[in-house]
Amino acid sequence: MVDYIPSRVANVSMVDAYEALLKKAYSNLTEPTESTERFTVPEAKVYIEGKTTVLENFAEIADVVRRDKDHLMKYLLGELGTAGKIDGTRAVFNGKFEPTLINGLIKSYVEDYVICSECGKPDTRLVKDDRFLLLRCDACGGHRPVKKRKAKTEVAGTELAEGQEIDVEVQSVSKRGDGVVRMGRYIMYVPRGKPGQKVKIRITRISGSIVFTEQV
Ligand SMILES: [Zn+2]
Repeated sequence: MVDYIPSRVANVSMVDAYEALLKKAYSNLTEPTESTERFTVPEAKVYIEGKTTVLENFAEIADVVRRDKDHLMKYLLGELGTAGKIDGTRAVFNGKFEPTLINGLIKSYVEDYVICSECGKPDTRLVKDDRFLLLRCDACGGHRPVKKRKAKTEVAGTELAEGQEIDVEVQSVSKRGDGVVRMGRYIMYVPRGKPGQKVKIRITRISGSIVFTEQV
C-alpha cells in the first residue's frame, strides 16, 4: 500500500501515519456527496526544490476532487515514472517536472477518476466491483469502469500537457481534414496538417487521449 515510499525513508511511524490517513480517506470515500457548487480544481502550485518537484497544494487538490490522497499520489507517480512521498499537505516528486505537466496529469486524473461521463458532474465515488474499479455517480446514478492505464510503462517522455510545444510529423488526415499524429496513447489533431509534413505545434487542449493543437 505504501510501496512507493523509498525504503530509506519508510519507517514505522510513517507507515502508521499512512494507515491512519488511508483509513480516514476511505471512510471519506464512502460518504455520499451532495455538493452542487461549482467544481473547480485548483491550479497546481508547483516548484522545484533541489532535485525534487514540490506540489504545494496536493492535499487541497485531493480534498476538492474528493479522492484518497494515496490514490492520487500513486497515479501521479505512475504517470511521472518516478518515486516520491506525501509530505504533510505537499507532495514531493523525485526529479524536475514542469508545472504544465503536473497540471495536465491532474486534469487527466479528474477526467478518468472523478467526472461522471454521463452527466459531467463530479459527485462520484470509486467503488470496487468483483474485479473492476467503477466510478459511480451520486448525481445521476450512472456508473462506468475506470479506464485502465499502463502506469509506469508510460514514461514522462510520452506524457503531454496543455501549453506544451513540440515538433511532430503529421501521419494522416482525419475526416474533418485535420492532420493526425499518434503518439503513445494520444491522438493529436493538427489543423491544416498534411501527411509527411513536419510542424511545430502547441497543445491547446487535452481531453482524455484526444489532443487539440495549433501550429506555432
Ligand atoms: Zn452522473
